[in-house]
Parts: sequence; structure tokens; C-alpha cells
Amino acid sequence: MRNMPRVLIVEDEPAIAELIAVNLRHNGFQPTWAMDSATAQRELDDVLPDVILLDWMLPGESGLSLAKKWRADPRTKAVPILMLTARGDESDRVAGLDAGADDYITKPFSTKEMLARIRAVLRRRTPENVDGVVEMGDLRLDTATHRVTFQGQPVKLGPTEFKLLNFLMKHAERVHSRGQLLDRVWGDHVFIEERTVDVHVKRLREALGAAGVMVETVRGAGYRLTTQVTVPSPGPVAEAPASNAKGSGGEEQRA
Ligand code: CA
Repeated sequence: MRNMPRVLIVEDEPAIAELIAVNLRHNGFQPTWAMDSATAQRELDDVLPDVILLDWMLPGESGLSLAKKWRADPRTKAVPILMLTARGDESDRVAGLDAGADDYITKPFSTKEMLARIRAVLRRRTPENVDGVVEMGDLRLDTATHRVTFQGQPVKLGPTEFKLLNFLMKHAERVHSRGQLLDRVWGDHVFIEERTVDVHVKRLREALGAAGVMVETVRGAGYRLTTQVTVPSPGPVAEAPASNAKGSGGEEQRA
């Protein structure tokens, strides 16, 4: 798959690095392992990862020093860094964050915690959080004011539907699997089931009214927001809600 985030693991203990790598691989990431600062630098020069997991205690150059260096380098300054540390002291945590780490994980840590923190830093660094206006056809979304309009008319969306639409508009015409949507829209909430995505997509379609057809289901793959559909023009002829169909039968029951 193309969208698997790359994670560079900088860790001198092979057993720990291997455990992290296996867990990342099982959870849709592409891990690379560097056991010292020189190897890590070579990896970074070669391919820029999406996240760096950086051990504090490394032979030679320390993780702290590496974090400072990478933050100062224009090429690597935007790559999120998660410090791995056995130190729990507040002064050490502060030093790590001061050096430019985005977050830190204290050893020993659980796989779930590690994944949640990786997803959180990825989400914070994704463009979804940048304020601005996105437009697709007659659909307009403003992240600064949290307003959505279709053909100039306001669309009322719940917070999750807003985030979902925001993501789909900024990555339009592409198919996103339920798992990818969970990662990118829900982020931290790694325990949410994939069918939750379906529920929110359904709500989003309903809220969008005529523009709901723009949210396409791609069978066996996921969802896509597209302008390659015919959006029904607005008018007084609205589709009858399904519940109205039962009306006549119900009346006969009354005696
Ligand atoms: Ca170490």
C-alpha cells in the first residue's frame, strides 16, 4: 500500500527495536531501524520518514543532541520526533521537549500507547489542522469558522462529520479505506470499530442533502469525495423520506 507512514526507529537495543518494528508493521506502518546516530543520519538523508522514534540513550551522539540537530535542519525540521526514554523525571521530559521532540514515551510502554502517540503526532502534523477555506464545486468548508455551505446555503454538521468532510475535501477524488479514515480523522481513538466510519459517512451524506451524492462508496475499497457526479439541482421537489411510505398502512389500523 502506498499510504503506509514511514517510521524511523533510532534505537541501539536490537530486542526493543525489533519489537517496535514488528508492532508497527502489523499496524500499517513502514518501519526502518537505525542502531546509531550515523546510520540514522544516512537513513534521513536517503528518505524522509513521517515520524522518528528516537531513543534518548544512544552510544555516541545522544538522542537529545540528534533531536536538536534535526530540528535545526530545514529538511528534517517538520518531521515529528517521539523520544523513547527510560527517564521519567520532569526535568528530562522538559529537556526532550525543549530539544524539539513532539512527545516522549517512557519505557516500558505498551504497543497501544506507542501507536496512539504516533497517530497523534501524525495527525497534529497533517494539513487538516491548518485553517483555511476548501471548495469543491458548490461545496465550501471554512476550517477557521467551522462553517460549511452548499450552493450558498448553510449545512449543519456534527463535529465528527465536519472533520470527516474536511479530510475528504482536502484529499478529494481519492479513495480512502475505513482504516485510513479512522487514522486520519479520528486519530487518537484507535479502539473505534471500522463500521463507525460507515455511520458517520451516512450522517454526513444526509446532512449534505443534494450534495450527499458527492460522497461515493467504492465497493471493497472505502469512500471518496468527488465532483464527478451529477448533483441534483435544488428545488421544491424533495425526495420523500422512507418513513412516509408506511403512512397509509398505519392509518388502516386505526378503528
Ligand atoms: Ca538505548
